[in-house]
Amino acid sequence: MTVPLTDPLNNEALSIHEDKVMQLTGSCLCGEVSYEIDGPVRDVVNCFCNQCQKTSGHHVAATRANKDDIKMIKDNTLQWYKCLPDVFRGFCNNCGGNLFWDNRKAEDNGLAIMAGSLDAPTNLKTIGNIFTEDASDYCKIPSLK
Ligand SMILES: [Zn+2]
Ligand SMILES: [Zn+2]
Repeated sequence: MTVPLTDPLNNEALSIHEDKVMQLTGSCLCGEVSYEIDGPVRDVVNCFCNQCQKTSGHHVAATRANKDDIKMIKDNTLQWYKCLPDVFRGFCNNCGGNLFWDNRKAEDNGLAIMAGSLDAPTNLKTIGNIFTEDASDYCKIPSLK
């Protein structure tokens, strides 16, 4: 599936799956930022937009959970970079790991979480590719079949 992009920041297809309640843990590479999720999450969406390419070095794969269901265990090195007027990217300022994408105007009170920061097994699946038209010329868009 390729998610339609009428409004990618507030897209029904990108919202949390209320019936998919999970307990997950995650961290950055050095472990100085770590968190727990206990609640409904969304399956994983790949984003190929230019900002995600520049911040991740490739493309971003993200799940999503309600902020109220995310408990920070360690966050002393968590720093937020403002990438759009109401949008911030959370990363570890020790190891540089990408962790979160926060649209503070989002109506679902959700936070996008970089799926690679989750401890496996996640039992999530990849359900969408967005902003594929922005993918770099070297990049092969993953098949979702
Ligand atoms: Zn770190
Ligand atoms: Zn993106």
